[in-house]
Amino acid sequence: MDDLRAAFDHHKPLPSKSVMFTIDDGFFDHHDIAARVFKEFGYSLNFFVITGFLDRNLWPWDDQVAYALHRSKKEVIDLRLPSGKELTINLRHDDIGDVVYSLRSTLKKESQSDLYAWLEKGLYPALGVEYPHEIPTSYRPMSWSDARTLRDAGHGVYPHTCTHRILSTLSVDEKQSEIEMSIRRVEAELDYLPDIFAYPTGRRSDYDQLDIERLQRSGIKLAFNTIPGYVRADRNSLELPRFSLPCDFDDFRQIVNRFEAFKMKVRGLAKLPA
Ligand SMILES: [Zn+2]
Repeated sequence: MDDLRAAFDHHKPLPSKSVMFTIDDGFFDHHDIAARVFKEFGYSLNFFVITGFLDRNLWPWDDQVAYALHRSKKEVIDLRLPSGKELTINLRHDDIGDVVYSLRSTLKKESQSDLYAWLEKGLYPALGVEYPHEIPTSYRPMSWSDARTLRDAGHGVYPHTCTHRILSTLSVDEKQSEIEMSIRRVEAELDYLPDIFAYPTGRRSDYDQLDIERLQRSGIKLAFNTIPGYVRADRNSLELPRFSLPCDFDDFRQIVNRFEAFKMKVRGLAKLPA
């Protein structure tokens, strides 16, 4: 990450054959397992942590959606969304994985200002699932002390908002608080001022120009989305793409050896008029 920052600072091309790994949200096993495995192979990791999660004030809304749906015994559920719109979920006919994906996608387009209250008062009761007042053990965060250990071991730890709500759905004040407060929490706990950030869920529609400008004013130098692509030094350093780790090892190999870049180029050429 330091090399990447330096390349942007000094307008230098990135060293060839560079690869960097990031891991988002701050779950306990990112510290307990992932950091150990990567260390074994000589790689440092870059952790983007939801600061309200490490503070144990909340656990990520997108995981709660999966948790609640998986525990529901109901088959057909009439749900009132935060906007007041009605949605019917059919757990008898539809694949649970598809339902989780689809409800998360729907919620990314709703106003997320009161999302956490809506989970407790809207989603859990509609699904007939008891609201967990404590974070369930399998969803627990790493501690701030874990985060300090990671930094001491040479890994990076950076802010990823306070609540993981989709920035583009929030008010100007909420956006500011998500960005500023998460930077402050990392600064207070890890005793350094972070200048790197990752957008929650990170599709282009999940953040907007105001967020980019706010990051810039807050001293953020590099920000990552989740649009698949290679980082190039001539790109906007506040919209750096990332590939998701694929399940298939051959796909992973194609990404790191840049075969994927060749494929993207060919696809791009195919779109050009003859
Ligand atoms: Zn995330």
